[in-house]
Amino acid sequence: MHGTLVLNADAQPVSIVPLSTVDWHDAVRIIYLGRAVVMEEYDLWVVRSPSVQMRMPSVIMLKEYQQHNGKVEFSRYNVILRDNYTCQYCKNKFPFKELTFDHVKPRRDGGKTEWDNIVAACYPCNQKKAHYAKMKPKKAPKQPSYWELAEVRKRRPITVPNAFWEQYLGWKSEVLIDESVVLKNSVEVLDENLPFF
Ligand SMILES: [Zn+2]
Repeated sequence: MHGTLVLNADAQPVSIVPLSTVDWHDAVRIIYLGRAVVMEEYDLWVVRSPSVQMRMPSVIMLKEYQQHNGKVEFSRYNVILRDNYTCQYCKNKFPFKELTFDHVKPRRDGGKTEWDNIVAACYPCNQKKAHYAKMKPKKAPKQPSYWELAEVRKRRPITVPNAFWEQYLGWKSEVLIDESVVLKNSVEVLDENLPFF
């Protein structure tokens, strides 16, 4: 996660999964190009050149609405999110690192690594299934939409670098603030290559 949250023209994040953020170079570029307005700034994070200084934007809002294409990347994280951190065999919930990818139709039988053949499984169930190939997940897996994943994501805690973000996130679970991202960068950043300096 980068230091600047990017909102769509409707003041909602452009994306929840993954959260739409950009690093300070991109934030400055987008503002410079006139594509977004600054909603919030960091107090301690200053970008400075010999002639100009600016406070880093913490939240920016695009002027033009960007439609989401509804697609999600196939990844271990997104599979576990789709399955809501729940082993699809024993139906217990687990922390991320205690869950693994499970091929419903085993790889040795030609099972592919794709949305409709992969489920989240705890390690004991994954092992057990290796010996009893007939074990089936409680529900057949399928590719989720972006909106389905975003709904699940909002119901899990998130850690963000700036307290201003919370009011824009529309989160349904805990929003934790960890300013270490900012503190690391709070020294003055000197960059003479920025177009407007
Ligand atoms: Zn299990």
